[in-house]
Amino acid sequence: MAGPHKVGGYVESWCGKCKLMLGHTIEAMVEGEPARVQCNTCKSQHSYKPFRPGDAPKQVRQREERGPVGPQPGKARASHYQELLKGKNPALAKRYSPKDKFAPGDLVEHPSFGLGVATANKDGSKIEVLFDDGPRVLVHGR
Ligand SMILES: [Zn+2]
Repeated sequence: MAGPHKVGGYVESWCGKCKLMLGHTIEAMVEGEPARVQCNTCKSQHSYKPFRPGDAPKQVRQREERGPVGPQPGKARASHYQELLKGKNPALAKRYSPKDKFAPGDLVEHPSFGLGVATANKDGSKIEVLFDDGPRVLVHGR
C-alpha cells in the first residue's frame, strides 16, 4: 500500500464474513493504523485484520526478528564503559602517569588509549582501567 492510511480511504483487510482478503473502507484510525473497517463487498463492519488468520503469526514473528533487539553480545563491554562514565566529568580526568596513584572509580586520561575509568587495583603497583576499546592493566604508584 502506498501512502499513509486515512479515514474513508481504501485498505485491504481480511473479511471474516467473506473469508477473503478484500478492499475495505477505513472507518477509524488508531496511531496511524486502520482500527475499524467496512467491507466493500458485504458491508460488514469489523476490526482491521491485515493478514489472513493463518498468515498472521508468521508475519508478526518475522517483524519482531527484524525489529530492535536487546544489546548485541559484542556491545556489552562498550555499554558497561558508558555506564561507568555516566555522571562523571571528563574534565576532572587525571592524566595517566605511572608515577601517580589511581583508585577504582578514578577517571584516567591516557595519551594513547583515551578516556578510561579505573575499575580495580591489582597487587598495589597495577591498576585495571576500562577504556572505550576494552580493559587494560596499567602500572601506577611507582
Ligand atoms: Zn465482507
